[in-house]
Amino acid sequence: AFITVKELSEKMKINPSDIIKKLISKGIMVTINQQIDYENASQIAEEYGFLLEKKEENEDNLEIMDKEDDEKDLLPRPPVITVMGHVDHGKTSLLDAIRKTNVTQREAGGITQHIGASVVEINGKKVVFLDTPGHEAFTAMRARGASVTDIAVLVVAADDGVMPQTIEAINHAKAANVPIIVAINKIDKPNANPDRVKQELVEYGLVPEDWGGNTICVNVSAQKNLGLDDLLEMILLEAEMLELKANPNRPARGTIIEAQLDKNRGPVATVLVQKGTLKTGDVIIAGTAYGKVRAMFDDKGRKVKKASPSIPVEVLGLSDVPKAGDILVVLDDEKKARSIAEKRKEKFREEEMMQKQKISLDELFNQIKEGNVKELNIILKADVQGSVEALKSSIEQLSNDDVRLRVIHGAVGAITETDVMFASASNAIIIGFNVRPDSKAKSLAEKEKVDIRLYRIIYDAIDDLKAAMKGMLEPEY
Ligand code: GDP
Repeated sequence: AFITVKELSEKMKINPSDIIKKLISKGIMVTINQQIDYENASQIAEEYGFLLEKKEENEDNLEIMDKEDDEKDLLPRPPVITVMGHVDHGKTSLLDAIRKTNVTQREAGGITQHIGASVVEINGKKVVFLDTPGHEAFTAMRARGASVTDIAVLVVAADDGVMPQTIEAINHAKAANVPIIVAINKIDKPNANPDRVKQELVEYGLVPEDWGGNTICVNVSAQKNLGLDDLLEMILLEAEMLELKANPNRPARGTIIEAQLDKNRGPVATVLVQKGTLKTGDVIIAGTAYGKVRAMFDDKGRKVKKASPSIPVEVLGLSDVPKAGDILVVLDDEKKARSIAEKRKEKFREEEMMQKQKISLDELFNQIKEGNVKELNIILKADVQGSVEALKSSIEQLSNDDVRLRVIHGAVGAITETDVMFASASNAIIIGFNVRPDSKAKSLAEKEKVDIRLYRIIYDAIDDLKAAMKGMLEPEY
């Protein structure tokens, strides 16, 4: 005896039912908790491209742990905002307008710089906007484990109202626990109807403040520059309530917002500092890139020597181009940074071959039993709204003391890449009823190991969920 099927599957991040299938084809009948011998285990491992070693390897700690800051060292920091909303409702226009109102005459000619985030000032206080609007970018970051957004500004056009991507944005922000401020845009239009927008928002759980709820709604026109200061003030107010704080007096930690290779300057990365202060000369590591901060520029293209919490800066001096979502950490020793970066590279190469293990119906019962799972998140797509509603309520009723079934997004339409990204970020499975994934969604789901289940009969979907909760689901061959 050597290793259980379960351990082997966890180590390789391969579905246990696939391993059992392979063993059966070799004439070995086992269940998931049974042990198999070294020879069989290493043969299986080899088929997946792994080398099985008898001795447990002592893994180097490649995660650079962060120490908690003392409450007394924390100081207020500016809020970081992502703008979301339906296409054409004015996200880009709003970002542009906000940036422009804030530029002094002297600078006005000079802002061509786009580093991935912009700093805006109102009443002497800073607000930071991420330049890429939309919940797709937001969720892609989250899927990589990075969360930088403090507040989501949801843009809804006053002449168009709540639309499918508005609902997606609401659900994505809610799943990330990020508060939403609504900007009702295009109020300059003759057919603008802000009250109708508010009514529609109520249906999605956003009750405006002036109607007794707690969702801040601000009427704006990005085109006519109306209400922008109000919006910024509301953002500051919300930020104050969130009591956003960080310790600026420690080595920096931040997230890469954007990065590319510049012909003349080498790898260039925009970092949003989240803790501490980043300084020129600091030894840094971000993903598999490392180096020393050679120079830094702010969002207006000015050279700076330091960047404090919530402030985005463009950094030169990395060995390589990091990925958006990578965590940047300041270390005390360049040799150490280099060695960690190299080990990470090796590990990532290995990981590319394995895939991240996500929740799946096959594994649900085991994960519940081990106490790893208390909640099963589900994204539901169906051909008609009636089926979405029917399935949603039947599914949620299946919840028991061990596990809660939660439909985090339900909508009409095919399963798209955004759905898969959302599932990946929220560790959810996707249920399709009379709809299929498009080809891009399908390949992304394979890559991200997102479990997609397709059904034509409501009963079948419910039966499978029930069976999975009891560990009685027939494996799919
Ligand atoms: P996005 O897809 O959400 O980024 O939307 P855009 O910012 O590209 O805007 C879509 C269209 O709406 C553009 O033609 C804008 O000029 C227009 N638009 C944006 N804001 C306003 C506004 O406040 N009033 C009016 N009338 N048009 C606007």
